[in-house]
Amino acid sequence: MLPWLEPSWARLLALGERLPHALLVTGAPGLGKRDLAEALAARLLCEAPAADGQACEHCTPCQWRRAGTHPDLRRLTPESAAARNAAGEAAETAGAGETAGAGGGEGKAKSAWIVIEQVRAVQEALTMTAHRGGRRVVIVDPAEAMNPFTANALLKLLEEPPQGCVFVLVSCASRRLLPTIRSRCQQWHIPPPDESALRRWRAEQGDAGRVSAGLLALCGGMPLAARRLAEQGFEALFARFVKDLATDEIDPLRLAGQWEAWIKKDKAALAAGFGLPMLVDWMQRWVSDLAALRLGGRVRYFPAQGECLARLSGRMSVAAAGNCYNDFVNIRRVAAHPLNPRLFLEDMLMRYARTMKGVRP
Ligand SMILES: [Zn+2]
Repeated sequence: MLPWLEPSWARLLALGERLPHALLVTGAPGLGKRDLAEALAARLLCEAPAADGQACEHCTPCQWRRAGTHPDLRRLTPESAAARNAAGEAAETAGAGETAGAGGGEGKAKSAWIVIEQVRAVQEALTMTAHRGGRRVVIVDPAEAMNPFTANALLKLLEEPPQGCVFVLVSCASRRLLPTIRSRCQQWHIPPPDESALRRWRAEQGDAGRVSAGLLALCGGMPLAARRLAEQGFEALFARFVKDLATDEIDPLRLAGQWEAWIKKDKAALAAGFGLPMLVDWMQRWVSDLAALRLGGRVRYFPAQGECLARLSGRMSVAAAGNCYNDFVNIRRVAAHPLNPRLFLEDMLMRYARTMKGVRP
């Protein structure tokens, strides 16, 4: 169990028989919400849970679960692995909902959505009695990967839950869920880890937990998100991003050309899956820190560049800082599908450079 999940886990266990039939586990990407959902499912299905409340891993149901054949454990999750993991990597606006095509059934491409056939199969399975007469668990992950059609089908199940069935929905963008779905679930919000939980995690992880403080801050302190980025080779990409921006004067057109080549041709960037949406996401975080400083707040994503950010933000007017931040919120919305990436980068960097000159964009 991840150290920062332990308080939530203890509270879940304390519920005992009062466990609601539908839980919605929410929180930022990279907190291990999925781990919590899986641990709960394992515990509910296990016939001899251990003293710490976790599944024993040895009984027949545990063996079925580990083999992926437990008939009373169902997962509603998009076929496309990228969509499943989008919840972990991208923040809300670049999550599964916007990168996904509509409704599935698009040729042979794996759907980024939970499709209606999947919900129907679960409906069907739930009409039968549980195989071992005990609990049944349905994990919906990420829950925001449901379109209104699918969500309504699930809603019917939540409204009249079959005996002994527990639904565990996992979401980092719960505002995108139908309010009727949210209101049917008990919400479990997972807060970001505190310092001591982080320290324990790093110690337990050894080498694997060695993510740079920079990457960790960029991920808003979410260790699993940072570790995933580190494993994919993002440390070097992040270092380059910071180096390119941590300068008093950028040449927007030149940098746009360099960045276009970077995301289109650079081997390390391509291997890591680094593209325009993520570059723009980082840029927005950079601008967010600048605006925060200018408006009297503090640096959140780039603490190691605090001095440089303070110097840069001192050159912006308060109005320009606010405008620039708002611009970037809008820019990020279209970053997944720009008509012309080069023009898109040029426009973005020119706005940024103008703001730095204290001129309103
Ligand atoms: Zn067991």
